[in-house]
Amino acid sequence: MTRTLSPAAPVSPARFGHVQSSQAEKAEKEDKAENLRISEIFFSLQGETSRAGLPTVFVRLTGCPLRCGYCDTEYAFYGGKRLSIAAILAEVGNYAARYVTVTGGEPLAQKECLTLLKELCDTGYSVSLETSGALDVSLVDARVSKILDIKTPGSGEAKKNRWSNLHRLTQHDEVKFVLCDEIDYRWAVEAIREHQLDLICPILFSPVHGRLDPAALAAWVLRDHLPVRVQIQLHKILWGEGPGR
Ligand code: SF4
Repeated sequence: MTRTLSPAAPVSPARFGHVQSSQAEKAEKEDKAENLRISEIFFSLQGETSRAGLPTVFVRLTGCPLRCGYCDTEYAFYGGKRLSIAAILAEVGNYAARYVTVTGGEPLAQKECLTLLKELCDTGYSVSLETSGALDVSLVDARVSKILDIKTPGSGEAKKNRWSNLHRLTQHDEVKFVLCDEIDYRWAVEAIREHQLDLICPILFSPVHGRLDPAALAAWVLRDHLPVRVQIQLHKILWGEGPGR
């Protein structure tokens, strides 16, 4: 028996073009779902927190929804390149380091950051996350040490503080106040008192480089017997400002 095949319905050029573009959109969506926009990956000394001085690989994600007046990483607001999580892990692995810090920009502004953090932990790294405190941290892997900023009035972004994040912190996290002046200092002291921050996790006080004298900040902290750690950005003392440090 011979079988006859009915001729295929012709595809109009316009319809074919539509199929092509929807496939391209789908591919682009899949690509974005598995990738992160990265500003830089580099090996340096951790300049801040209780990990200061430790050789660390930094993964800096592109983009931030905030605009703090003292921001020293504006170059990370735009640009960067898309990398798969596998490619990021491979590059991090090149440095044979134990510590990894995921930073920005605001890393949590990219949803896939959560997967990156989990995979870094699964690989065996000791991972910290530097976040502005403006975005929800509830889905961050519990093994990650969250370094959570509390934005002061001097930053110009205090209204973005997401105070509910404090309920997500444990003793292996840290909160950080970047202080511009004495007004910020007094505001931070009140925030510590109001939210009983010293019962939650270690507290960092960091003077804005070139704006608040670190010696003045140290004197205030000693005078007031504050339960905080005063820190100076080690990397800026060693190398000054700029990318890759
Ligand atoms: S949150 Fe951080 S990266 Fe974003 S503007 Fe403020 S200081 Fe800059």
